[in-house]
Formats: sequence, structure tokens, C-alpha cells
Amino acid sequence: MKYSNFMEVTFKALSVNEGFARVCVASFCVQLNPSVDEITDIKTAVSEAVTNCVVHAYPGQVKGDITLRCELENDLISITIRDKGVGIKDVEKAREPFYTSKPSEERSGMGFTVMESFMDDVEVTSNSFGTTVKMTKKIVNAMSEVGC
Ligand code: ATP
Ligand code: MG
Repeated sequence: MKYSNFMEVTFKALSVNEGFARVCVASFCVQLNPSVDEITDIKTAVSEAVTNCVVHAYPGQVKGDITLRCELENDLISITIRDKGVGIKDVEKAREPFYTSKPSEERSGMGFTVMESFMDDVEVTSNSFGTTVKMTKKIVNAMSEVGC
């Protein structure tokens, strides 16, 4: 049986919303019956992506929006995190382990590496109008309450 569902939420790029985003995704994904490990992986990856928007996307005083979209298609979870910030000049470089543009703030440059290791696939697209990170993960024993 084909099952699909989605949710989308937009919030301000403030660090107080990192926890909100994590919990929001976790509670939505529960309908696929993920394992504790799978849900922990998803929450960690979402946390890294949202933190990046909070820390890097809006360097001025005015903080813009972050949009979090989560789509379920049978046993596949796709999560898109989008900002309308300054963008990333060199995405390939940004994705290298230990690369950070903020070494003075004690960032380790491991955010993208963490996302890649906890999710099955991570796509990053960016330009001077913003950045979109799309991550997917297959849930091994997916089972929707509504009959996946
Ligand atoms: P850490 O995540 O370990 O605290 P970090 O955020 O610097 O450190 P990554 O998450 O791997 O490391 O990101 C690498 C770099 O990519 C960042 O230093 C930043 O320059 C850039 N970057 C990532 N996300 C965004 C974004 N949403 N907008 C603008 N730049 C970004
Ligand atoms: Mg980061």
C-alpha cells in the first residue's frame, strides 16, 4: 500500500528553536514506527542543519526564517531545511570534515559530516538567496498506523 504524508513549519532562526525543530520532526516521524536509534539519528541530523541556519545563514542582527519540511513516502523520510540567508560560496568545501568558516567560535566543522553519517543521503544547494539541505532516510521496519 502506498502511504504518503507531509508537514511543513516555518520559524525564526533562533537557537531556542533548535530543540523545537528536533521534537517536531521526531513526533511527526513516529507514525512510521522508527527505532529509537533511527529517531535519534534523525533528530541529530535535523539539529545540525537547523543550527547551521541559526549560526551561519543570517550573520547580521536581523534573523530570518527557517522552513522545515518533512515528507513520508512509504518507508522513506525526506527532510528539507531551508533558509533565505547569505548562502554558501563553496558547498563542496563546506562539506569537508573539519571545515568551518568560524574557527574562532570553536566550531568543529563537523555538522555536514554528522548529517551524512546519520542519514542515507544529504543534498545541499545554495546560492546568494539561501541554502537548502535535503536529507533522506529509509526506516527499516516502517509501519504506519494508517496502513503502510
Ligand atoms: P559545527 O557544525 O561542527 O559546529 P560548522 O557549522 O562550521 O561547525 P558545518 O556544519 O559542517 O560546520 O558547516 C560548514 C560550513 O558551511 C560552515 O562553517 C559555514 O561556513 C557553512 N554553512 C553551513 N550551513 C550554512 C547555512 N545554512 N548558511 C550559510 N553557511 C552555511
Ligand atoms: Mg554546523
